[in-house]
Amino acid sequence: MVDLQGQYAKIKDVVDPSIEEVMNSAAFINGPKVHQFQKNLEDYLGVKHVIPCANGTDALQIAMMGLGLKPGDEVITADFTFAATVEVIALLQLTPVLVDVDPVTFNIDVEAIKKAITPKTKAIVPVHLFGLPAEMDEIMALAKTHNLYVIEDNAQAIGASYTHKDGSKTKAGAIGDVASTSFFPSKNLGCYGDGGAIFTNDDDLAHTIRGVVNHGMYKRYHHDVVGVNSRLDSIQAAVLNAKLPHLDAYNAARRNAAKKYNNAFKNHANIITPKGLEINDGDDSHVFHQYTLNLNNVDRDALVAHLQEKNIPCGVYYPIPLHKQKAYVDDRYNESDFVITNQLVKSVISLPMHTELDDEQIEYITSTILNFINAN
Ligand SMILES: *Cc1c(COP(=O)(O)O)cnc(C)c1O
Repeated sequence: MVDLQGQYAKIKDVVDPSIEEVMNSAAFINGPKVHQFQKNLEDYLGVKHVIPCANGTDALQIAMMGLGLKPGDEVITADFTFAATVEVIALLQLTPVLVDVDPVTFNIDVEAIKKAITPKTKAIVPVHLFGLPAEMDEIMALAKTHNLYVIEDNAQAIGASYTHKDGSKTKAGAIGDVASTSFFPSKNLGCYGDGGAIFTNDDDLAHTIRGVVNHGMYKRYHHDVVGVNSRLDSIQAAVLNAKLPHLDAYNAARRNAAKKYNNAFKNHANIITPKGLEINDGDDSHVFHQYTLNLNNVDRDALVAHLQEKNIPCGVYYPIPLHKQKAYVDDRYNESDFVITNQLVKSVISLPMHTELDDEQIEYITSTILNFINAN
């Protein structure tokens, strides 16, 4: 699905000496590399504050702690996403409220959010799924009307831009009250271990969060709030400093691969290709963390088995709706509220997507898929 060795080989000359510097300095925690990365990422995203932390799941949890959400507060998020989002809501004893997604973008359905808002609702967590930012103008307007926080889960869309209704653009993660991201190795900006970050333009919230990530300390050994220990280590920061200058090129390579996939599957009756390339060439509205097809009248699981036989990696993101996961079942939910997610879990398939895909690989993958679908 990804080719991290191929990517590393091309930046080894920069990454290795940078890691060695950390080893020689022994500043493994909170060293200069971490501060440098924080500044670099603030500049790149156009956001006032980046607070690095240990991983993307912590980043979500810390964002919610920083906002002061309390047990019983309802937090609305998408049913069709990775479990981390709902997990931290539940962990903090907030009440997760899962809602359906849009069948075309796979992102949280704004009409479904509207229907789910109650007097207890405190926040919305849009996930920019597979690299495409959610409908942020509508979500921000809704949040304003109902006085809700917006926490962007930007783990899959770092570097993507959201185009507002007036044509202006903002980087995903710089729009809501606060955002989280992950630097898990296979993410669009991945380190060589675990890492994550929180972003915000709010000075007070940034100050609160800087304490939360560090045991609730604002003054050494004075613990004003219950916090956590969540740090990005200096070795990961060294890797990220070396990779951040390549992020736009990496995302362009992903878009380029997506374009070739889309071309191969164009106008096929059984294959719905992902949206996000139409806007214009070189546009950064979708950064293709995953390239995900929605199949129509195809035995998806048989195709998965066939691709495995042909040594073509593929993935099903995600095979089970969150509202059906044992940990998150809730008798307040109605199946009729999850028509799209219930369908997508049966019909989506994600193809290999990374910065090193070549034409020969794409040709082999697409022709294998087309041959299978056309023969069955
Ligand atoms: C990867 C991911 C996370 C969690 O990130 P980790 O660094 O693995 O904790 C959260 N949300 C989404 C949507 C993700 O894809």
